Amino acid sequence: MNMKELFVCECHDNHHMVVVSIYDCQKHPPEFSISVTADCHLVWYRRVWAAVKYAFGQPSLSWHDVLLSEADVTRLQNCISHYGKIKTALDQHQNPVP
Ligand SMILES: [Zn+2]
Repeated sequence: MNMKELFVCECHDNHHMVVVSIYDCQKHPPEFSISVTADCHLVWYRRVWAAVKYAFGQPSLSWHDVLLSEADVTRLQNCISHYGKIKTALDQHQNPVP
Protein backbone atom coordinates (compact mmCIF):
# COMPACT_ATOMS: atom_id res chain seq x y z
CA MET A 1 0.00 0.00 0.00
CA ASN A 2 1.32 3.44 -0.90
CA MET A 3 1.75 6.09 1.78
CA LYS A 4 2.18 9.85 1.63
CA GLU A 5 2.69 12.21 4.58
CA LEU A 6 3.17 15.98 4.65
CA PHE A 7 5.45 17.44 7.32
CA VAL A 8 5.27 21.18 8.00
CA CYS A 9 7.96 22.94 10.00
CA GLU A 10 7.24 24.02 13.55
CA CYS A 11 7.85 27.64 12.44
CA HIS A 12 4.79 27.31 10.15
CA ASP A 13 6.64 28.84 7.18
CA ASN A 14 5.03 27.31 4.08
CA HIS A 15 8.44 27.05 2.45
CA HIS A 16 9.62 24.69 5.17
CA MET A 17 7.88 21.45 4.44
CA VAL A 18 8.63 18.00 3.11
CA VAL A 19 6.49 15.24 1.72
CA VAL A 20 7.48 11.66 2.49
CA SER A 21 6.15 9.12 0.00
CA ILE A 22 6.45 5.37 0.03
CA TYR A 23 5.50 3.56 -3.15
CA ASP A 24 4.75 -0.14 -2.90
CA CYS A 25 5.84 -1.47 -6.29
CA GLN A 26 5.05 -5.06 -5.17
CA LYS A 27 7.53 -6.66 -7.64
CA HIS A 28 10.41 -4.29 -6.89
CA PRO A 29 11.79 -2.89 -3.65
CA PRO A 30 9.56 -0.11 -2.34
CA GLU A 31 10.58 3.47 -3.05
CA PHE A 32 11.09 5.89 -0.16
CA SER A 33 10.96 9.47 -1.40
CA ILE A 34 11.46 12.76 0.46
CA SER A 35 10.27 15.77 -1.55
CA VAL A 36 11.33 19.24 -0.54
CA THR A 37 9.79 22.50 -1.62
CA ALA A 38 11.61 24.65 -4.13
CA ASP A 39 12.33 28.32 -3.70
CA CYS A 40 9.63 29.61 -6.02
CA HIS A 41 8.72 32.68 -4.01
CA LEU A 42 11.13 35.00 -5.83
CA VAL A 43 9.80 37.61 -8.23
CA TRP A 44 10.38 36.78 -11.91
CA TYR A 45 13.53 38.89 -12.43
CA ARG A 46 15.20 37.38 -9.37
CA ARG A 47 14.44 33.89 -10.70
CA VAL A 48 16.02 34.89 -14.05
CA TRP A 49 19.06 36.24 -12.21
CA ALA A 50 19.30 33.03 -10.19
CA ALA A 51 19.11 31.03 -13.45
CA VAL A 52 21.88 33.13 -15.04
CA LYS A 53 24.08 32.66 -11.97
CA TYR A 54 23.34 28.93 -12.00
CA ALA A 55 24.25 28.72 -15.73
CA PHE A 56 27.64 30.27 -14.95
CA GLY A 57 28.39 27.97 -12.07
CA GLN A 58 27.14 29.93 -9.09
CA PRO A 59 24.15 28.00 -7.90
CA SER A 60 21.95 30.00 -5.60
CA LEU A 61 20.25 27.04 -4.08
CA SER A 62 19.55 27.41 -0.43
CA TRP A 63 18.63 24.82 2.10
CA HIS A 64 16.04 25.22 4.76
CA ASP A 65 15.54 23.26 7.90
CA VAL A 66 12.30 21.52 8.65
CA LEU A 67 11.86 21.26 12.40
CA LEU A 68 9.53 18.41 13.23
CA SER A 69 7.26 18.29 16.23
CA GLU A 70 7.27 15.22 18.46
CA ALA A 71 4.05 14.06 16.79
CA ASP A 72 5.63 14.47 13.35
CA VAL A 73 8.70 12.49 14.42
CA THR A 74 6.33 9.67 15.37
CA ARG A 75 4.62 9.97 11.97
CA LEU A 76 8.03 9.84 10.27
CA GLN A 77 8.87 6.72 12.29
CA ASN A 78 5.58 5.21 11.11
CA CYS A 79 6.56 5.96 7.51
CA ILE A 80 9.92 4.22 7.97
CA SER A 81 8.21 1.31 9.72
CA HIS A 82 5.71 1.04 6.86
CA TYR A 83 8.60 0.93 4.37
CA GLY A 84 10.28 -1.81 6.41
CA LYS A 85 7.13 -3.92 6.51
CA ILE A 86 6.67 -3.68 2.73
CA LYS A 87 10.34 -4.54 2.14
CA THR A 88 10.27 -7.48 4.55
CA ALA A 89 7.08 -8.88 2.98
CA LEU A 90 8.59 -8.57 -0.50
CA ASP A 91 11.85 -10.23 0.60
CA GLN A 92 9.92 -13.12 2.20
CA HIS A 93 7.80 -13.49 -0.93
CA GLN A 94 10.83 -13.51 -3.26
CA ASN A 95 13.06 -15.63 -1.01
CA PRO A 96 10.81 -17.98 0.98
CA VAL A 97 12.50 -19.80 3.85
CA PRO A 98 12.50 -23.55 3.11
ZN1 LIG B 1 10.82 26.44 9.56
